[in-house]
Amino acid sequence: MSHPPEPFRIKVVEPIRLIAPEAREAALKEAGYNLFALKAEDIFIDLLTDSGTGAMSHDQWAALMRGDESYAGARSYHRLKAAVEDIFGFKYFVPTHQGRAAENILAACLVRPGTYVPSNMHFDTTDANIRARGGRPTNLVIDEAFDPTNPHPFKGNMDIHKLQAFIEKVGVEKIPFGMMTVTNNAGGGQPVSMENLRAVAETYHAYGIPFFIDAARYAENCYFIKLREPGYEHKSVLEIAREMFALADGMTMSAKKDAIVNIGGLLCMNDENLYQQVRNELILREGFPTYGGLAGRDLDALAVGLYEGLDENYLAYRLAQTAYLAERLNQNGIPTIQPPGGHAVYLDARAVLPHIPQHEFPGQALTVELYREGGIRGVEIGSVMFAYPDPDTGEMIFPKLELVRLAIPRRTYTQSHLDYVAECAGRIKKRAESVRGYRLTYAPELLRHFTARFEPFQ
Ligand SMILES: *Cc1c(COP(=O)(O)O)cnc(C)c1O
Repeated sequence: MSHPPEPFRIKVVEPIRLIAPEAREAALKEAGYNLFALKAEDIFIDLLTDSGTGAMSHDQWAALMRGDESYAGARSYHRLKAAVEDIFGFKYFVPTHQGRAAENILAACLVRPGTYVPSNMHFDTTDANIRARGGRPTNLVIDEAFDPTNPHPFKGNMDIHKLQAFIEKVGVEKIPFGMMTVTNNAGGGQPVSMENLRAVAETYHAYGIPFFIDAARYAENCYFIKLREPGYEHKSVLEIAREMFALADGMTMSAKKDAIVNIGGLLCMNDENLYQQVRNELILREGFPTYGGLAGRDLDALAVGLYEGLDENYLAYRLAQTAYLAERLNQNGIPTIQPPGGHAVYLDARAVLPHIPQHEFPGQALTVELYREGGIRGVEIGSVMFAYPDPDTGEMIFPKLELVRLAIPRRTYTQSHLDYVAECAGRIKKRAESVRGYRLTYAPELLRHFTARFEPFQ
């Protein structure tokens, strides 16, 4: 298998280097075996995240120079407004500095203590912003999402029966709005079908509940619909996107994903009263409504990136690139979540390191080995991130899966970089029996994966 050649050529380069094995060992030790604590210059291939790490195009760099830094009513704002109205079609919008700022403002306006916000699966910042206002985020994704071998084409779908039962149980008055995340990042970058989005919208609207889409990876989701959902093969991704957003009453978006910028976000809505509240919150926390925490030049790069993210040659290459990495890893004996998602490949660490028990962090061990073997940085999504003590018994509760996520920055790495990653992983697989587990030497109570320190067992 191969994937379509990169639909770009390289005009500016950023050198990367693989430091010597002894230097990698010393860097690991100093970082307490936590890859978040490494210096970026000591990393060869950085697959920590696809957020804000993509490469901007020459058109985007040119757009930066057109940035209008007027405090109010800048030309840059009006260029962005035209793009947002053309693609998403909502009546009102504000720019924000990133996705979580849009979530914060929406939650500040609508979430009250004791209310619930259902979704297929909330991303962690959305989850936290709802909780921070006393609300309860609720995940109602289909059960297939939790089976890593199930090849369901739309594993990000919401279970409509669960949604109906949930609304009946907690009561409409306790649900200020409902959401859907496209693609489902927390569930492996899996897409949602248009059929499911339509059913979700109808259900919310039947109860009078406003429907917001978390649109961080909407373009990848729309291309999956084109590839996999009957009736959409001849529609353009832009047409599919317009159909998707016409179902909703608003959206939050991190522009650092499918809009291929290094910073930025959007909050859109149709309700005029809500827009007035949003503007007031925005002025308090982010900035004047025509720049919302961004520079004029950022708005221009975003206006261009929104269209580039919808380019079908790019999307065909993008999704094939992810599938290619998954297939090469599988050929080298590394199982991954199936089918591969849009932005990342998820390695099954327990299958690679079956001799390491969950309380010795097999996902963390595999993450460390990828750096040790090849200077590659991924992120553990397993017991370091999600194990917690039962509040009643104190007994540790472990997550179902021990994963390592390799997220692919947009337009940044080539096929030979991915081949290198798959080869390194294959070499780890061959010496897997000698890989040892880890014990924590420091861990804060919440979000411990960012700052924890470890020691290897001998
Ligand atoms: C990244 C992301 C966010 C948060 O956006 P930031 O720009 O990182 O604040 C929200 N939802 C999803 C699905 C995301 O992937």
